[in-house]
Amino acid sequence: MKADHFDQQKLLALAAEDIALGQLAHRRRTLPENAAVESATERERELSAAVVRAETGVRDLQREVGRLEGDVETVRARVTRDQGLLDSGSVSAKQMTDLQHEMQSLARRKSDLEDQELELMEQLETAEAALAGARSGHEAVQAELERARQLRDDALADIADGTAQHETARAEAAARIPGDLLALYERVRTQTGGTGAAVLKARQCQGCRIELNGRELAAVRNADPHEVVRCENCGRILVRTAESGL
Ligand SMILES: [Zn+2]
Repeated sequence: MKADHFDQQKLLALAAEDIALGQLAHRRRTLPENAAVESATERERELSAAVVRAETGVRDLQREVGRLEGDVETVRARVTRDQGLLDSGSVSAKQMTDLQHEMQSLARRKSDLEDQELELMEQLETAEAALAGARSGHEAVQAELERARQLRDDALADIADGTAQHETARAEAAARIPGDLLALYERVRTQTGGTGAAVLKARQCQGCRIELNGRELAAVRNADPHEVVRCENCGRILVRTAESGL
């Protein structure tokens, strides 16, 4: 295939845009800000679960305290009732003795329950402190996650801007290249996954960084300047310039 030597040189501007676009795509894929968001998300999930666990612990203890308070109330009512009966003077001597025994046992029961309640209140206090700690840790990681997302979004917006600029420049560079040469470039680019042309500089293909051997070099040297030559190694169109070392 033949193409004007100067048109071939225009391929380098196109290749430069493809390199820039490739770098931007690579940056988008490997963005450290993405990893930061992922790790903050993971921590947020963990701390959110810790808050739920701590809330459950507090609720369970509160329920337990409530149950004990109910028991104490029942005992208290019973004592009041018994005391009322004793005060009424309308019970027999036997009933009076029974009531006095019951009141002693109720007093012990009440004291037991109050001890238990006290112990539970201490546990509840500890659990509430743990919940407050879990909540503040969760709030901190939520703020951290928000910051990480903002940084990631900023980086992505930056990449999107750069991509739009290089896509415009690429379209302009492509518009200056004859159709058949551009079609060949695009075919090669699909194969290499990067660029379709590279400059030959100091006998080295700048696409794959391989230096041409003697036979290859002789072939390129002897080729018509308008002949489209390709790198035997990577397949790219080799663009010859004054710096090619021919
Ligand atoms: Zn090459």
